[in-house]
Amino acid sequence: MIGLTVATGLARCGLSVTVLDRQPAPQWQAQAYRRQVTSLNRASEDWLDQLGAWGRIEAWRATPVRRVEAVDGHDGPSVAFDAADSGASHLSHIVESELLVAGAAAAAEQAGVRRCHPVSVSDWQTHADRLELLLDDGRWLSARLLVAADGGASPIRQLAGIPVATGDYEQAAVVSVIEGHRGHGGVARQRFMPGGPLAYLPLGERHAAVVWSRPEAEADRLLDLPTDAFGAELEAAADGWLGGIASLGEPGRFPLRRVRAARYSAGRVALVGDAAHVIHPLAGQGANLGIADARALSATLGNAVARGRDPADRLALRRYERSRREANDRMQCAMDAFHWGFGTDEPWRRALRRSGFALTRESTWLRRCFMERAMSG
Ligand SMILES: Cc1cc2nc3c(=O)[nH]c(=O)nc-3n(C[C@H](O)[C@H](O)[C@H](O)COP(=O)(O)OP(=O)(O)OC[C@H]3O[C@@H](n4cnc5c(N)ncnc54)[C@H](O)[C@@H]3O)c2cc1C
Repeated sequence: MIGLTVATGLARCGLSVTVLDRQPAPQWQAQAYRRQVTSLNRASEDWLDQLGAWGRIEAWRATPVRRVEAVDGHDGPSVAFDAADSGASHLSHIVESELLVAGAAAAAEQAGVRRCHPVSVSDWQTHADRLELLLDDGRWLSARLLVAADGGASPIRQLAGIPVATGDYEQAAVVSVIEGHRGHGGVARQRFMPGGPLAYLPLGERHAAVVWSRPEAEADRLLDLPTDAFGAELEAAADGWLGGIASLGEPGRFPLRRVRAARYSAGRVALVGDAAHVIHPLAGQGANLGIADARALSATLGNAVARGRDPADRLALRRYERSRREANDRMQCAMDAFHWGFGTDEPWRRALRRSGFALTRESTWLRRCFMERAMSG
């Protein structure tokens, strides 16, 4: 997802770009809703629009979110964020991740990006003016810059010797798609519970993507349940949102980890997206941060190249890191604070949460700050 957006951004700055992916080329055919979705904020939409991807994605299918409701536990305080309070038509869009990748791939193709699938980089030799990349099919490829957008485990980051700080949330996200008995009206709902939050993200008219973070053993147990029993537990946790579950898709599981790269570049290698930072998905911001990285890297390198500089110019890569590091770290800390604050039901944490909810509910200014932050990333 992030590799294709950075490739398109760089190609539009006049660079010659090749995307190498170990997965087959993405294809999109509208069919049943997929369980892996991305909540895209308005800043990401704006950048995808500039790349020529958003129109396509929106025409295929993207669901606007007009209101977000968050509730603490089953009978705790709640708070709502409404796009209308900021004079906006929507807060974000929910897009199936596969569709997002296919839309980004179509825009990349239009921008002249070459793509090689399925292939990965096994090793490289460093020369003064380039890298010689050895691909796993035995071919060699010459590049002046290698951008690692290869996810949280990033084999390229490891080959480049960039250290990371990692952490385990000791949770896994159980994801699925449900169809409700009632429409969602463009409302996304999140319930914070001691084992992890449960989110219903609107899809189409009556569907929702479910992201349910649970302690790892509990996530395994849920996945082992027969569909009916899983649906019953989900319905009980969701307190009948969407009027209950009319149909339920097969669930999947994602382990939740935290990753923070010590540097965003080393020599002729730059990191973007999850290769540089992985955060808890509770606020749906990971891909938005990656898209902001892609935008910043394209702008910085575009400027450097326009001034006749090497795309791996050390100062330009440093400028890129400076432009993104603070926002990425801040979001990671905020997600860790939410995870910590909502992680258990100890009385003093519950009291702290009650004050936080009350303050946010009563302060239009604070709600607007949250919304603007969520919309802009
Ligand atoms: C349950 C869950 C829900 C989420 N919801 C949201 C949300 O609502 N909003 C949001 O903004 N973010 C969300 N995120 C985060 C988001 O999914 C990630 O931040 C995003 O997918 C990162 O994209 P990426 O392109 O950097 O990495 P990835 O999506 O991991 O892609 C990595 C790519 O690199 C390729 N690759 C890997 N290794 C190699 C190799 N050796 N050679 C060649 N290719 C390789 C892979 O094939 C893949 O195509 C969520 C995450 C989870 C787990």
